[in-house]
Amino acid sequence: MPLLVMKFGGTSVADLARIENAALKVQKEVERGYDVIVIVSAMSGKTNELVGWVEGTSKLYDAREYDAVVASGENVTAGLMALRLQEMGIPARSWQGWQVPINTTAAHSAARFVSIPRDNIDAKFKEGFKVAVVAGFQGISPEGRITTLGRGGSDTTAVAFAAAFGAERCDIYTDVDGVYTTDPRVSSKARKLDKIAFEEMLELASLGAKVLQTRSVELAMRYKVRLRVLSSFEDTDENSGTLVCDEEEIMESKVVSGVAFSRDEAKITLFTIEDRPGVAQAIFGPLADAGVNVDMIVQNISEKDYDDSHPGAVTDMTFSCPINQVERAKKAMEDARDAGLIKYDELIIDTDVAKVSVVGIGMRSHAGVAATMFKALANEGVNIKVISTSEIKISVLIDRKYMELAVQALHDAFGLDKA
Ligand code: ADP
Ligand code: ASP
Ligand code: MG
Repeated sequence: MPLLVMKFGGTSVADLARIENAALKVQKEVERGYDVIVIVSAMSGKTNELVGWVEGTSKLYDAREYDAVVASGENVTAGLMALRLQEMGIPARSWQGWQVPINTTAAHSAARFVSIPRDNIDAKFKEGFKVAVVAGFQGISPEGRITTLGRGGSDTTAVAFAAAFGAERCDIYTDVDGVYTTDPRVSSKARKLDKIAFEEMLELASLGAKVLQTRSVELAMRYKVRLRVLSSFEDTDENSGTLVCDEEEIMESKVVSGVAFSRDEAKITLFTIEDRPGVAQAIFGPLADAGVNVDMIVQNISEKDYDDSHPGAVTDMTFSCPINQVERAKKAMEDARDAGLIKYDELIIDTDVAKVSVVGIGMRSHAGVAATMFKALANEGVNIKVISTSEIKISVLIDRKYMELAVQALHDAFGLDKA
């Protein structure tokens, strides 16, 4: 039997009516002759509520219990989806992660897949079941504890199942009808893309476009999964949505394909650090040990003999990290200073910043993208605080209050509203 993976996100299973709507989409594929593995998220808002309950109970919570609590949202929707399908006369069975089993690492709340043995689900298909409904976002550790995969992780569950079961396609049903040139909630001019290259989707996702979890795109790229994003609220067919595929499959050739943003950024500057070999290591080593995900880094040009109290070369170091890691970063720096590993005069934290990025594989062979980007921002009076680039993206850190304006200006500047 040909097999499809269909994933339904939180808003697509937000209540019983939506679950029925999703089940009708599954029914259509079963009627077309497919066996289907359905991956479900928790009802929208549920995971946030569960996280709140954990944090309200224990500030420095045990990560194993965090996972035990937050994985429960998906268990509910998996059971309800199986029941709804049964009501429609479709033989369906639900599976929690441990029942499959979805074997993961023990890295609680950020676990990675180790293996997904097919035997149990295959046996059920052989018995005549048409649909396996699997709880997304969760797995089981080598110690036999429940694990979760990080927020948005059901996308990754879906792609992993598509790879493990050799699915014809992995369809991600969500509340937008595809991947857009930017978040359609921020720019009304955002345009839906028919196709997007894996590399570009990977950058967009990791730079903040939450339509797909970054890891799901990585897995799809590695295992050559045909990955599609489409609407659970509209009528859809084989051509609906956006296909994430190899760049060779794409005819449209734009230098920039999309604009991504991330609101929850912070910028930390260490003023007057020594300028000598080993200083960067002495700063970023402790940050890494403290689990801070440092993103952008800028080191100023050294100022020789900065003032009398600092003979020799001194400079400043600035880096960005997620806003919820600021306290950890601050403590790591203070501890490093107290231990005599680093010196600085002042540590300044700016939590009112956002990151805006333009992404496109066309950048590899085109000059002038940065100039166009900086001009568009200058025209809007947006000051750039930090810049970083890679082969196919340019990111800037700016004041958060200008984020929407910057996204819209860049969308216009690169003509993304036009096909
Ligand atoms: P789900 O609950 O189905 O997993 P998510 O909320 O995780 O849905 O992801 C879908 C959301 O991603 C959309 O509602 C949209 O606001 C946002 N999004 C951000 N960037 C993009 C983009 N480039 N294209 C489409 N959607 C985007
Ligand atoms: N429910 C989880 C979350 O909100 C996983 C997911 O929906 O993908 O992050
Ligand atoms: Mg999601």
